[in-house]
Amino acid sequence: MTASSSDQDGDRTALVVGAGLVGTLCAAMLASRGWTVTLIEYRSDPRLGSHAERARSINLALSPRGIEALRSVSEELVERVLKEGIEMRGRMVHKKAKREGDRVDKDGQDYGNYDEGECIRSTSRTGLGIQLLDHLDGLPKEGRGSVTTLFETKLVEMDLRTNKGVDVTLQGKGGEPRKEHFDFVVGGDGAYSQVRQQMMRGSRLRFDYRQYFAAHSYLELSIPPGPNDTFLLEPNYLHIWPRGEFMLIALANLDKSFTLTLFAHDSTFSTIDAQLASGNFSASKGLNPVVELFRKEFPDALEHMGEEALLRSWKENPKDGLITVECKPYHYQDKVLLIGDAAHGMVPFYGQGMNCGFEDVRVLSAMLDHYGASPSPLVPSPLPYSEVAPILPVPSTASKAAEQSPLAQALAAYTAIRAPSLSAIQQLAQRNYTEMASSVLSPLYLLRRGLDSLLSSLSALPLFAIPRDSDPTKDRGGRWESLYRMVTFRPGLAYEEVIRRSEWQQRVLRRTVEYLGASVLVGVTAAVGLKYAGRYRLVRVA
Ligand code: FAD
Repeated sequence: MTASSSDQDGDRTALVVGAGLVGTLCAAMLASRGWTVTLIEYRSDPRLGSHAERARSINLALSPRGIEALRSVSEELVERVLKEGIEMRGRMVHKKAKREGDRVDKDGQDYGNYDEGECIRSTSRTGLGIQLLDHLDGLPKEGRGSVTTLFETKLVEMDLRTNKGVDVTLQGKGGEPRKEHFDFVVGGDGAYSQVRQQMMRGSRLRFDYRQYFAAHSYLELSIPPGPNDTFLLEPNYLHIWPRGEFMLIALANLDKSFTLTLFAHDSTFSTIDAQLASGNFSASKGLNPVVELFRKEFPDALEHMGEEALLRSWKENPKDGLITVECKPYHYQDKVLLIGDAAHGMVPFYGQGMNCGFEDVRVLSAMLDHYGASPSPLVPSPLPYSEVAPILPVPSTASKAAEQSPLAQALAAYTAIRAPSLSAIQQLAQRNYTEMASSVLSPLYLLRRGLDSLLSSLSALPLFAIPRDSDPTKDRGGRWESLYRMVTFRPGLAYEEVIRRSEWQQRVLRRTVEYLGASVLVGVTAAVGLKYAGRYRLVRVA
């Protein structure tokens, strides 16, 4: 067992709980900063799983925020991950046919400037997890900079009352609970985090927590590869069937299949399930309600899926809820920190959950370096503090903690910097359902997109560039950019800064429209006035 009590030979030990995507990246980052890391995972090693088990896993949209965070840990890892992703240059909107049987119209909407590399990537969740675990295998096997991964091992309990470090109780599959001691614990154990549960015990930590479920749940379906190993839909788009209260999306996989996700209200799923269970549906058109729904709303997807496969997936795949998790603070002293979904589970409508979890790791490593809180970085700092928080002063909570250990200061700074960002992306994710499920069809939305892209191209020219402010908190960035572009393609912008800039742009647009409207009104009034004044004079003269 690698876990050792602290400082025996200068080594400092960290326990990362959860070998999900974020926990695994964090373990690699801590090792690169000289920690001796133990990574535990409740489930078994995915590399030993059967192929069928792997294929069931969903894919995710990896965006530049996530990529930059991976890069901050290993350039080589990024190269391998990028090779396994399928570029998505924009949305392909599948409109609703006017009548059943009519052709489905599609509209491709690019996310940004694809020629300049602005795209997101459809990436297999399991494949990415395996790439990260393989990366750990390349690290030292013991001592400083090593990661020991223990599968089928869970955290049962955590005691934060010790003078230094943390006592934990771990349990392997079928084994007895055993006590261990670590200098530092990172909870990367997902939305139902046990580390977080332990932080909630008692009032000592003053730990606030809130969770809530979205009205929507989701179900995964799939479209198989086409004949002669072809894609049945355009692979380089994220396909959306926006239908207001519900929505279907599809992302391509390397094996030429597509993974589809149906988002619908719980009541839609349960009504259909109740009809299926009772067999009542045969009385209507004699159609199975699932098939009926898909024939009406998603006929082109149904054609590629096949009715039998659709019904099988509907019956066998889970209909899972979407949880949002909010908590504060993310850390306690220099003992424990929550990252990823454990700290900020969110609805998936901006495709940022994992990307933002990876960004946690990038920000954390910058904080550790800035405060000299790691034993001895084995690689140069991925980025300086000033790049993580370009316009934010050093948080006062961090300076208050000046008398504390460098790690306590780094974690306090992390919480202070990350809290507004995470709250911002959670808000953006909630709001984006409306954009994806209905706005993308509205003429007003398309007009705004057109204006955004015109203003964005104009502001790239020096003559029209937005002047930079000497006060950095008022700086608008020098260039007009759509909200989506700032969230997705600008890893250097904190999410709350994205909201601030976007609100400013909206105000400018609104004022311009008001100004133009008022000018037109004044013009029309003047013209009408002149016309009648002329007539009046003519009448008088006559
Ligand atoms: P998890 O992936 O949940 O990993 C936590 C790990 O901890 C698990 O392996 C678990 O077994 C382990 N664990 C739990 N308890 C213990 C314990 N006591 N002891 C030991 N181990 C434990 N994000 C994007 O960026 N882009 C997308 O396109 C996207 N699409 C999504 C689509 C859907 C339908 C959903 C639901 C989410 C999507 N997300 C997306 C969000 C993304 O999946 C999550 O944000 C991300 O997987 C979180 O990773 P994590 O490592 O924090 O948590």
